[in-house]
Amino acid sequence: MLKGKTALVTGASRGIGKAIALKLAAEGANVVINYGQNREEAAKTAAEIEALGVRALIVQADVSSFVQAKELVDRAKQEFNTLDILVNNAGITRDGLLMRMSEQDFDQVIEVNLKGIFNVTRQVVPLMVKQRSGRIINITSVVGLLGNPGQTNYAASKAGIIGFTKALAKEIGSRGITVNAVAPGFIETAMTAALPEKTVEAIKENITLKKLGKPQNVADAVYFLASDLGEYITGQVLSVDGGMAY
Ligand code: NAP
Repeated sequence: MLKGKTALVTGASRGIGKAIALKLAAEGANVVINYGQNREEAAKTAAEIEALGVRALIVQADVSSFVQAKELVDRAKQEFNTLDILVNNAGITRDGLLMRMSEQDFDQVIEVNLKGIFNVTRQVVPLMVKQRSGRIINITSVVGLLGNPGQTNYAASKAGIIGFTKALAKEIGSRGITVNAVAPGFIETAMTAALPEKTVEAIKENITLKKLGKPQNVADAVYFLASDLGEYITGQVLSVDGGMAY
């Protein structure tokens, strides 16, 4: 149970972030829903959360902006005073073979996926250190562990998240804060809906369980790490991929 806790989930307007926000709310946490552009979807997530009897706060912020990340965390602090759980979930893809990849597509993916985690976490950690408790969960990807053609930018950002997670876990473990990563495989969201049917069939062949995962599967793993069940786990990468990365 997370009754009385406050969680901030970045990129919670849709997909995996939305499922995480709903799961944490269902377990009793108040949730700060960050989103990038999709206010309507963020409002829907908030309404679903409030229907569970907890509080929801919607905050628009581009996580790739250090200034906006600060405003996001300040707003959360103002509203709830504490922040117990941070889930860095916001992420994008700009796929393409390296030989054709533009500098902009490389930079954008690193700015949102990797620098975005620095930006938000940088604001949250001082608060958690003061509290002497906290849970940070970073959403990486199976692609950060295995690589994937056409995703050098994305794989680099996701592998970077793993290094970031392990280093920060060592920095702040003595302050009662755990830092872990969750590595989803192929999950049914808008991100994977963009893939051609033939590619999806080929992907399924490489999955031990022969099917794509659901956002709920990732949310359950995040909850495990955010709750008392994850008390003695830090610096780890938990794969939720139907058996791809072993
Ligand atoms: P999605 O459906 O495309 O949703 C992405 C979310 O991130 C949206 O809420 C979006 O907000 C938000 N976002 C994007 N850029 C942002 C920014 N600059 N600032 C703030 N929020 C931003 O993606 P998803 O499939 O749920 O993926 C969620 C996370 O899981 C990502 O980190 C992704 O890399 C990772 N992941 C996904 C899969 C998969 O199979 N789907 C597999 C492995 C890892 P708006 O729509 O409001 O702009």
